[in-house]
Amino acid sequence: MERTTCCVVGGGPAGMVLGLLLARAGVKVTVLEKHGDFLRDFRGDTVHPSTLALLDELGLAARFARLPQRRVTTVQLPLGPDRSLVTVADIGALRDTYNYIAMVPQRDLLNLLADEARREPFFSVRMSTEATSFLVERGRVTGVRYRTSDGRTGELRATLTVACDGRGSLARSLPELGLRRFTCPMDAWWFRLPRREGDPRGLVGGVGDRFLTAMIDRGDYWQCAALIPKGTDSRRRAAGLERFMADFTAAVPWLEDREHALRSWDEVKLLDVRLDRLRRWHRPGLLCIGDAAHAMSPVFGIGINLAVEDAVAAARYLVQPLRGGAVGLQDVRAVQRRRWPTTALTQALQRIAHARVIEPVLAGRPPFGDPRRAQRMSELLTTSRWLNRVPAYFLAYGAVRERPPTASVR
Ligand SMILES: Cc1cc2nc3c(=O)[nH]c(=O)nc-3n(C[C@H](O)[C@H](O)[C@H](O)COP(=O)(O)OP(=O)(O)OC[C@H]3O[C@@H](n4cnc5c(N)ncnc54)[C@H](O)[C@@H]3O)c2cc1C
Repeated sequence: MERTTCCVVGGGPAGMVLGLLLARAGVKVTVLEKHGDFLRDFRGDTVHPSTLALLDELGLAARFARLPQRRVTTVQLPLGPDRSLVTVADIGALRDTYNYIAMVPQRDLLNLLADEARREPFFSVRMSTEATSFLVERGRVTGVRYRTSDGRTGELRATLTVACDGRGSLARSLPELGLRRFTCPMDAWWFRLPRREGDPRGLVGGVGDRFLTAMIDRGDYWQCAALIPKGTDSRRRAAGLERFMADFTAAVPWLEDREHALRSWDEVKLLDVRLDRLRRWHRPGLLCIGDAAHAMSPVFGIGINLAVEDAVAAARYLVQPLRGGAVGLQDVRAVQRRRWPTTALTQALQRIAHARVIEPVLAGRPPFGDPRRAQRMSELLTTSRWLNRVPAYFLAYGAVRERPPTASVR
């Protein structure tokens, strides 16, 4: 029988950070990741100041700085007169060491965390290994059954199993955890356009005819997301790529010269956007964190941050009981109690953005129901020094800052 102390299901941002922190603190941890590497079609690439500060505390700042990256200090939206860009969050104005968002391919960040964790004698990661079901004994989760990509199966027993396996988590099949879904008005198209000298920098948004766009400056190209009304992917594709690109460049006029840059719809990937959370993130022997506990909308681009902060809080609350060999319900409950308010607040703000900005725009109406209101909001954001700092701070650190367990700090 195979045994570990903490079995982490899923090697995304939440799983890799939790694995590293626990292993450094002397807890035997095994991460199961169903893919053979960390490369995916889509993964958010934003590393926010809270995660940068964490990497610093873990002694990884210098190695992280060597990864290829772009630094983004502002978030701009077209809320000004004639849709001119207005800076809605100036992270660069925060008086902190890490006053920028680092745009780093997520696989590089995950590889860095995995390499660092592999140095720890208590850590192991099994790639190409998918957890297929939970082992349950007398009502307590005691580990998982797994299957490897070459068809081998097995059982891994653990004092605690932590589900970090994203929004399709195995744990979501457990009815007692209760999934609460929120309506989401949009799906996202994801594609690249070349970037030229003289283009704006940073994160840039645009509003078009029944779609919204957010573009990430990645040096020589723009990673573009276009939000479209949910369920309209095939209808919109049938209307033709040329029509979409004409609409897109009309919304972002400085991209006009790249109207014919996409050759086929194959270059445009559909991402299903969801917003939900579990009512209970735990049961005896099991804890869910990150997207497994709460799938985040791409609005504000802070899902990775929340997942990482969940992992940091979980490590802090669980190191002692895991070292002692017994994790009670009160220990896993404490993690949910700590992280629930931030999650609920962030999702509430995302729902407001869905209802006030995204839904009206996707239905062809002005954001906030009235263009003058959007104008007043943008004036407030640009003229009030303090109001401008609130979104910047929230994007940078979320609602609460989490500190790693002292034993994990280097
Ligand atoms: C369109 C869109 C755009 C987004 N953009 C951003 C952005 O720019 N910035 C941002 O911060 N957030 C963004 N997000 C949100 C962000 O992607 C998630 O919140 C974040 O990835 C959650 O991290 P996680 O570790 O909890 O889960 P995930 O990143 O989903 O990782 C889960 C891991 O578990 C593995 N896994 C799954 N099932 C199993 C299994 N049974 N056994 C073993 N392994 C398994 C998966 O392969 C994966 O590696 C976006 C979301 C969407 C939908």
